[in-house]
Amino acid sequence: MRQTTVKELGNVLPDSGESFSFESHTGRREKDIYKLMNSKPSFATNLPWQVRCCLAVLLRSVGSVTFPEYGKGESKLADLEKRGELFDSLFLSLGDAYYLYVCARIESIGNELKVTLTCPNCKYEQNNYTINLNDLIVKVYETEEDTKKEIDLVLPVTLGEKKYTKATVSGLRFTVPQERLDSFADAKLDSVAETTTLVGSNTPLAVELISDWPTRVINQVYTIINELTPGIDQMFEFTCANCESKNPYAVNWEYLGFFS
Ligand SMILES: [Zn+2]
Repeated sequence: MRQTTVKELGNVLPDSGESFSFESHTGRREKDIYKLMNSKPSFATNLPWQVRCCLAVLLRSVGSVTFPEYGKGESKLADLEKRGELFDSLFLSLGDAYYLYVCARIESIGNELKVTLTCPNCKYEQNNYTINLNDLIVKVYETEEDTKKEIDLVLPVTLGEKKYTKATVSGLRFTVPQERLDSFADAKLDSVAETTTLVGSNTPLAVELISDWPTRVINQVYTIINELTPGIDQMFEFTCANCESKNPYAVNWEYLGFFS
């Protein structure tokens, strides 16, 4: 895995390598983003849902897929939902989706994000600290080996006559969790199931099979999946202006704060 920055990578997706373009972020499009997000009020605090709705409105193209031309006047919810469905059909990886989201923010609002940082060491508070989003680190696949890893199955899987003892894991896909996924444990099991494929078969593992694994093993596989997922590092390092210690800070990607 190679490390680069948003600025260096530019308009190229970290996973698929496709190029992309955006509509301009106007007052009307901002209204459209809210309209689409609020079409499912119970999803209001769901970050992947916010990312999906924002990109569905703002994307003009990804690779060879072009979004419908934007008409004049007020957008109908049905038209916005069509854009949302088209976005879903792209079946983007997690890294590509969040990369698009951060690039959409840079293109529409700019590359500077003002945050308040509290030093975990001396509790000193820095207001209006500026993060340059162009400087965020991005992991990019370099070789074929970067994209997947073989693991031994703790509990071998038998399908028909055949017994499988090994599986391949790959990076995470971008998904909007459904309402039933209200716990991190559910989301984790789903992620492991989706990205683990039996060696010698194209069958992804079923959630029920993984549910019987020891949690320790599930966590190990989940860590590997995260390492295999390219894209922007949400963690950013800052130096405290008071005690000069270096500390990690997770950029908050919630639409409301991130796009204001
Ligand atoms: Zn400090």
